[in-house]
Amino acid sequence: MYGITTPHLYSLAVHGGAGTIRREDLSPDPERAYRTALENAVSAGYTILDQGGSALDAVEAAVAAMEDSELFNAGRGSVFTHDERIEMDAAIMCGHSLDAGSVAAVEQVRNPIRLARRVLDRSPHVMLGGAGALQFARDQGLPLEPLDYFATAFRRRQLDEARAADRVQLDHQARKPDKYGTVGAVAKDATGHLAAATSTGGITNKRYGRIGDSPITGAGNYANDATCAVSCTGFGEYFMRAVAAYDLSCLMEYKDLSLGEAARHLVFDKLPALGGEGGLIAADARGRLVLPFNSEGMYRGWQYAGETPQIAIFK
Ligand code: ASP
Repeated sequence: MYGITTPHLYSLAVHGGAGTIRREDLSPDPERAYRTALENAVSAGYTILDQGGSALDAVEAAVAAMEDSELFNAGRGSVFTHDERIEMDAAIMCGHSLDAGSVAAVEQVRNPIRLARRVLDRSPHVMLGGAGALQFARDQGLPLEPLDYFATAFRRRQLDEARAADRVQLDHQARKPDKYGTVGAVAKDATGHLAAATSTGGITNKRYGRIGDSPITGAGNYANDATCAVSCTGFGEYFMRAVAAYDLSCLMEYKDLSLGEAARHLVFDKLPALGGEGGLIAADARGRLVLPFNSEGMYRGWQYAGETPQIAIFK
């Protein structure tokens, strides 16, 4: 199934969301800012892999770097719910142990991905939601922030527009130059293990309590050393109904498809058949990376062991 391609000792990919992102809509300054933020995220994860660290640590670090940037819809810069809350979802999974941790509709936590990692490492559970997730963050001593830390003027404007038009809005849907997105990372480390992490503020003007695909293991995030690590982005309702992340793994496990074949089928046939726009990033056990999307663009970056980092935004 793998032919004779040489495995990559380690590799990592990140995304900053898929959607209507067109070259003609993005002026040079914001484009530079996105490229720098994506480079920083790749570098945060790649440095860990390069020093012999685990895929799990690498994806957590890459996603935390994007949560700290207000350019993306995760952590700082997350979108608003209809009633002006910021409720975040995040998930992380280890492909070696199949341990997973996730948090849903959590407020105030500076880095939801670090909280998901604590759920994985330090709780007997896989998923914590809302007030219970926040209490767990307090118990774990993780940094909390006031609403103003997360909220940006751009997000407030976006909410006003979405409320006026009475629509829930995927981050990149309205054609505007400054679109941001859900973030994710996948990695294969030097010991051959895979991991995936995803973090998001969800979709603008969502109902309070709405949970997307990102924190649902198997929907927006999944990792299994036997197949792949994957992080999805797009309208979560479709990715949940397609059980997209696990489906990618199943296409490889049960149909013996390569990562590229499985990802193409999922992103260009199965998801569009449901009406699902978006994309994913994924790594396989040989460290190969794919970053397909069926939308106009997807913020993305990747790096193979010993090679230079790559950043791309448009088709
Ligand atoms: N999948 C995310 C959600 O529906 C949104 C995104 O990927 O931008 O919550």
